[in-house]
Amino acid sequence: MRVPLIAGNWKMNKTISEAVAFAQELKLLAPFPGVEVLICPPYPALAPVAEVLAGTEIALGAQNVHWEDAGAFTGEVSPPMLKAAGCRYVIIGHSERRQYFGETDEIIQRKLKAALRHDLIPILCVGESLEVRERGGTFDLIAKQLEGALSGIGEEEIKELVIAYEPVWAIGTGRNARPEDAQEVNCFIRDWLARRYSPVKAGSWRIQYGGSVTPDNAAELLAQPDIDGALVGGASLKVESFAAIIRAA
Ligand code: PGA
Repeated sequence: MRVPLIAGNWKMNKTISEAVAFAQELKLLAPFPGVEVLICPPYPALAPVAEVLAGTEIALGAQNVHWEDAGAFTGEVSPPMLKAAGCRYVIIGHSERRQYFGETDEIIQRKLKAALRHDLIPILCVGESLEVRERGGTFDLIAKQLEGALSGIGEEEIKELVIAYEPVWAIGTGRNARPEDAQEVNCFIRDWLARRYSPVKAGSWRIQYGGSVTPDNAAELLAQPDIDGALVGGASLKVESFAAIIRAA
């Protein structure tokens, strides 16, 4: 059975001391039976937070990664650096990276490959804009994003993979997808993975939902058969609301 993954994507929020204080507070509430909990702080806070989380089951992840191991790439951070900082996961292809930093499916594919090569579990984000949803193009776009990100990546390269379905119109807007709509897309993603890889793999990989997940709507979303956790932005910034979402899972 798939263990739900509740992940906090802090985006560009929290200094080192704020991040450490959050981790210390969250740690007091652990363990979280039946749920895997992950926090994704900004780069500078990764190593200090890893120290706080050492010996707990709370996992650490980064929000982005470069595809090369080292070299002349000013401002970038590589997979081995993330591993050394204590990361187990990395978010790849978040819609804000696609939108504001020009990440294409090809860039995302390279990052995905690099993460897998270094044993980081990728959380691949896919999702449609409102315009695409309204003209009925959601499934085509999701398929195109999956095809692009996973092109040339064989089953033997993937030990573990997480997909996060995050409709762009639901991110940071307070307008979450209806549980049945999110379920429909997550189910589509699982079918796509089953065809591309195998039904066994597709049945074991987790597919999250993200976009305005709160303590109020989490339980209903997470009750859907193909929603295996949440990628939480705004509501992951306070221990109280993040813990409430974990409890809902
Ligand atoms: P949100 O962000 O929960 O603030 O909508 C989710 C995300 O971008 O991962």
